[in-house]
Amino acid sequence: MEYSDKVVIVTGGSKGIGEGCVRVFVEAGSRVVFCARRREAGEALAREVTAKGPGEAHFVACDVSKMEDIRRLVEGTVERYGRIDCLINNAGWHPPHKPIDGFTVDEFRRLLDLNLVSIFAACQLALPHLRKTKGNIINLSSLVGRMGQLHATTYVATKGAVTAFTKALAIDEAAHDVRVNSVSPGNIYTPLWQEAIDAAPDPARCRADGEAAQVLGRMGTIEETGRLCLFLAAEATFTTGVDHVQSGGAELGYGRKTRH
Ligand code: NAD
Repeated sequence: MEYSDKVVIVTGGSKGIGEGCVRVFVEAGSRVVFCARRREAGEALAREVTAKGPGEAHFVACDVSKMEDIRRLVEGTVERYGRIDCLINNAGWHPPHKPIDGFTVDEFRRLLDLNLVSIFAACQLALPHLRKTKGNIINLSSLVGRMGQLHATTYVATKGAVTAFTKALAIDEAAHDVRVNSVSPGNIYTPLWQEAIDAAPDPARCRADGEAAQVLGRMGTIEETGRLCLFLAAEATFTTGVDHVQSGGAELGYGRKTRH
């Protein structure tokens, strides 16, 4: 797949699924601007992928919970490259698992700001540019936004909202030929997943359960999610308002899914 000379913004691209998107889009020839809060990892990744090409990547330090930071990310991209073809809203966080009694209202509000309101803001700021290029938006939602998840009321609520927001925006932006889709991963092995493993009472069991939740018997990779996003951006030109589940079959059938 090729997405040559297109300009792509990836939020939260220094590690995990965002890193997968940065790598895959640069390999497809894109000029990628990506952000995270801390500089070191982002700048190192930008140097590494740009050296390999054929596209290039540029890192911007930005906290997507802050409107001024998102504005700087979007405006800086347009100043640098003169256009935006694709916005990938990936930055997000899954707090440690707790029953509802364990979360405060303020914690929920902060998670809504990070996982949902930041996406609204980035879309609003990027859309004037995406309408000019008839570009597209990809929002990272989650399989659990459809299915629910144990002890994750706040996270699941933010992701259900991302999927619903995506569909509503797709209707409005069709008038401008801008496509808006979401990707709902199941278990993709990333630093966020490793955080959950490290916080579990039995880390080895937690990892094994994560692998065993899919009919395909493993977690997905960051590059696999990057390639799905590239397909949506570059090839899926008659697809809008669709939530793309990428789960290795986690939601199929009942109970444990491994073959052994
Ligand atoms: P991760 O924690 O491994 O990486 C998250 C990235 O976002 C990092 O680059 C981090 O620096 C950045 N980030 C976090 N907060 C930020 C902020 N305030 N401002 C800017 N950047 C910020 O996470 P991941 O597992 O790669 O998940 C990426 C997205 O995919 C998230 O929205 C997550 O909810 C979603 N998701 C992940 C999985 C999975 O199995 N890994 C499953 C479903 C959905």
